Amino acid sequence: MALRTLSSLKWSSNFLGETPGDEVIGGNPRQVTGACWSRVKPEPMPEPVLRLWSDEMAKELELDKEEASLLCGNVMIDGMDPYAQRYGGHQFGNWAGQLGDGRAITLGEVNTIHGILELQLKGSGKTPYSRFADGRAVLRSSIREFLCSEAMHHLGIPTTRALSLVTTGEDVIRDMMYDGNPAPEPGAIVCRVAESFLRFGSFEIHAMSGDIRTLRILVDNTIRLHFPEYSSESDLGIVEWLIDVADRTAKTIAHWMRVGFVHGVMNTDNMSIHGLTIDYGPYGWLEDFDPGWTPNTTDARTRRYRYEQQSMIGAWNLSRLMEAISPLMTNPHYLNKVLESYYDSYRKYISMMWAEKLGLGKFVDSDGALISELKSKLQKRETDMTIFFRLLTYIDEPDIVQLGKAFYDDRDVQTDEWNAWLTRWWHRVDGMPNRESMIKSNPKYVLRNWMAQMSIDAAEKGDYSVAVELYEMLKNPYIEQTEYEDKWFSKRPEWARHRVGCSMLSCSS
Ligand code: AMP
Ligand code: MG
Repeated sequence: MALRTLSSLKWSSNFLGETPGDEVIGGNPRQVTGACWSRVKPEPMPEPVLRLWSDEMAKELELDKEEASLLCGNVMIDGMDPYAQRYGGHQFGNWAGQLGDGRAITLGEVNTIHGILELQLKGSGKTPYSRFADGRAVLRSSIREFLCSEAMHHLGIPTTRALSLVTTGEDVIRDMMYDGNPAPEPGAIVCRVAESFLRFGSFEIHAMSGDIRTLRILVDNTIRLHFPEYSSESDLGIVEWLIDVADRTAKTIAHWMRVGFVHGVMNTDNMSIHGLTIDYGPYGWLEDFDPGWTPNTTDARTRRYRYEQQSMIGAWNLSRLMEAISPLMTNPHYLNKVLESYYDSYRKYISMMWAEKLGLGKFVDSDGALISELKSKLQKRETDMTIFFRLLTYIDEPDIVQLGKAFYDDRDVQTDEWNAWLTRWWHRVDGMPNRESMIKSNPKYVLRNWMAQMSIDAAEKGDYSVAVELYEMLKNPYIEQTEYEDKWFSKRPEWARHRVGCSMLSCSS
């Protein structure tokens, strides 16, 4: 296959062509009205160097790696028409008004054999939506986004993708823990890719400002471009579309629960209309199975976005989306169906997910008790979620000794209680768990927080080999890859227990 240059990609600008935009190009942070976007110019960076590159994403775009270092905003290619999207959002339960792409700039849409894909730079300068911030991104958060979004894709979880990571040669000042200690950090830009970066908040902003005309255009356009199987002309069509959005949201959150992913900032501006995992900030992965855990320091007090609450937050966020869409409905009452269907979808996906994780075959109602008992056992003593389920996949008799590696302190294990549960499970599957489904739903490798942090520590010293190794390994998370086992199929090391970036993360990125 002949690879393309950036200029030979098939660029288009449907979103800019079909929705209302800001008349001013670029300009200072401000409130914009009656618009879905503002045209902007990425700021040139002094010394762009390509550090990470996703071959798989490039293949989907048919893009040549030679072009990669251009993905930093320094060069505009014919066909690109850069813009920042305007959106709003509910942050931690409160309406926050206009937010928008404060440091993300879409370069344009590319027509591929897989449909339209948007290419967006994150960290390439100020836009009208930058509010009080600098429009930049630091290396640590860019590595976290690059590695995690690609890892999620290979885990089979809907997500925005990453194509490249370029360091800018420019320092960015951040007060990482908001404790009055700002320090310079290396800057970077990730080029990320998705069918669109529309969020629930993209719709909310128009409804909340009473701009029903723009809302109507955006909904018509979103359905026509991205959900062509529905019609925006009737209540029924809109409800069917929203049921699809709800179903995708439920499915993605059930996947997060499956692998122990905690998004960390499920504000409505971080909820993709496509149901993609989007905006990788202070996310984290469960190490020990603690349903109350959240990695986000900003959320430490109420833990609104903790692991076990993610599906409820999905429902809360969908309710905000429906409020936003309701002015377009002749009979808004029909929207109730969407929430009902969300709960049905989530119940369906989460039961399927547990049935697959435990190799049960088809889920039956009585499995509920088996699963709740397992969850409560996992919480009693510090038990590594990923290792536990992966080893369970290969167990050949109901004996907890085979799962020893999952426990932080194996003197602690309540052998009799565990063996009783394992025996119950063993009977349920007639001694023949569906190992194939277990292998596919219990990953051996995930991007634990300390793993990402190790790659960041090395990269900040100029060594990207750890990041590349993790990227390569996480392409095949369900495959044994024994060469990585000692190093990465491993519980959280003690040094990571309280280290910033491992056990807690701030939004400062
Ligand atoms: P997030 O929590 O990363 O989803 O961001 C919330 C809002 O803050 C969005 O509108 C972002 O565009 C904006 N934002 C975050 N970081 C920056 C930054 N460094 N410069 C400008 N805007 C930012
Ligand atoms: Mg965001």
